[in-house]
Amino acid sequence: MTPRQILLLIPAMFFSAVVFPQEILTPAEKLNFEQVSSYTDLSAYIRQIDAQSDLVSIEKTGSSVKGREINALLFSTSGFGRDAGKIRVLIFAQQHGNEQSGKEGALLLARELIRPENRYLFDRIDFALIPQINPDGSEVNKRRNANDADLNRNHLILTEPETMALHNFFDKYRFEVTMDVHEYSPFGDDWVTAGFRKNSEVTLGTTTNLNVPEKIRMFSQNKALPFLFNFLGNRNFSCFTYCPGDPPGNGYIRHSTFDINDGRQSFGIQSTLSFIQEGMNGKDDYTDNLKKRAQGQMTGMRGLLEFVFLNKKEVIKITGRERQLLMSGKANPVISVQSEHIGNGQVLNLPVFSYKTGMDSMVKATDYRPVVSSLKDVVRPTGYLIPDKLYEIMEWAGRHNFEMREYLPGRADVIQEYTILKTDSIDFEGDIVLNPFVEIREYPAVQLAGKYVFIPTAQIKGTLIALGLEPASMLGLVTYKRYRHLLKIGEVYPILRIK
Ligand SMILES: [Zn+2]
Repeated sequence: MTPRQILLLIPAMFFSAVVFPQEILTPAEKLNFEQVSSYTDLSAYIRQIDAQSDLVSIEKTGSSVKGREINALLFSTSGFGRDAGKIRVLIFAQQHGNEQSGKEGALLLARELIRPENRYLFDRIDFALIPQINPDGSEVNKRRNANDADLNRNHLILTEPETMALHNFFDKYRFEVTMDVHEYSPFGDDWVTAGFRKNSEVTLGTTTNLNVPEKIRMFSQNKALPFLFNFLGNRNFSCFTYCPGDPPGNGYIRHSTFDINDGRQSFGIQSTLSFIQEGMNGKDDYTDNLKKRAQGQMTGMRGLLEFVFLNKKEVIKITGRERQLLMSGKANPVISVQSEHIGNGQVLNLPVFSYKTGMDSMVKATDYRPVVSSLKDVVRPTGYLIPDKLYEIMEWAGRHNFEMREYLPGRADVIQEYTILKTDSIDFEGDIVLNPFVEIREYPAVQLAGKYVFIPTAQIKGTLIALGLEPASMLGLVTYKRYRHLLKIGEVYPILRIK
C-alpha cells in the first residue's frame, strides 16, 4: 500500500466508523419485516439513500396505471451513462406485485452499495436499480398491475405503462447486463399431492431462446450462473437452477422458458447478458419469512455485481460484438420462430422438502427437458414493410422505439408476401397457440402498390422485430388476441418482407 493509498483510506475509515449511516433502515426493517415496505415509505427511503451518498441519483422511468412513480436508483462515480468505459447493469424487481422480497432485497442492496467498502464496484460499473416495477400490484399484494395485465407477459406487445417505462429506460442506456427479480411459490396443491416441494431459497436462470446469440447464452450458463451459485452458497443460501414445470411424476420440468415477452428474454434478444432470479415466496405469499427472503434476493443481486466487476472486459467484448452484428444486419441469418423443450437423457436431481419425513431430500426428475430445439426457422429478411394505415403495428413499433422510415422501393429490392393457407394449433410450454401454414410469393418492389413504412432488421431489436412480425412465430404478435385479425385464411398477410 502506498502512502497515497493510506491517505485515501483515512476518510473511508472515518466514514464507516463515524458518519456512515448504519442507522438507515429500510421501511420493512423498521417494521421488523412484519409488514412490507409501502410505496410511500419506499419513496422516502430511496430519497434518504440519495441524500446520504454522492454515488446515487434518482431517475423517474415512468408512472404506473394509478400514477405511482417507477423510480430507478442510479449508482455512478462519473455521471450515469457518461463514461463509455463503464459497463452498464440494470436490476429490476417486483413486476409481480405479490412477490415482495425482490423489492425488499433491492432496498437492502441500495444501502449495502453506498457503504465505502463497496465503492470499488463503481470504478467499473454504472448500476441502475428499480426496486419496484409494479407499485400498484404491490400495494394490494397482487400479481398483476391495475389494468389486470401480467407485466411479465407484456414485454413484446408493450401495452402497459410499467413495461413501457422499463423498456424506454433500457433503450436510453442500452444496459449490457440485466436481471429480473421474482419469487416462485412451491406451496401449490400439485406439489402437496406429490408429497414434496421445491425448497431452494434462490433460483437463477438465464436466456434460453435460440435467437439469443449462442456466445451470450453459453457465457451466461457456463460462467455467470456457476459464479452466482457459489456466491450464494458461500453465504449460506441454498440455490438451484430456475426450472419451471410440474412435480416429477406428474409432468415435465423444463430448463427455463424461451418466450421473448418476459423481462429476461426481451432484453437477452437485444444481445444483453440477461438473468432471472426467483427467490422462494412465503407460505402466505406475503410477509412469511420475509427477512430471510429479502436477504437471499439481495445476496444474488450483489453476486451479479461482483461477477460483472470481475468479468467486465469479457462481458463488454461479447455483448459489444453481438450488438455490432445485429446493428450491421450480420447477425445469424437463421431465426427460429418455433421451438420446443426436449430431453437429452439427463436426469434432474431436484432438491426438495419432503412432507412425509419433514426433511430435505432429493427427487429424481426423469422427464427433464433441458434442451431448446428449433421446430421452424425463417431466413432473416432485410426488413419488414408495414402498410402505413396499419396504425396498431405502427404504434407497436413506436412503443419499442424501432428505427423506421418511409419506404422508397429500390430497383433491386425483392418483396416477399405471405398467404395464409390454413391454421391449426401448436403446444407452446403448455399453452395452445395458433400455428399458421403459409405460402410465400416473391415479386420485384417496383410492382408494389400502396404506402409502406420500412422497419430494417439491421438494428439492435432486429431479431425481436422478426419474432414479433413473422406470421408463423409462436412468440409473435398474432398469438395475441388484439393482433389475431391480421391472419385471415386464404388471404395475404399485410406485413411484407424485403428479402
Ligand atoms: Zn414473478
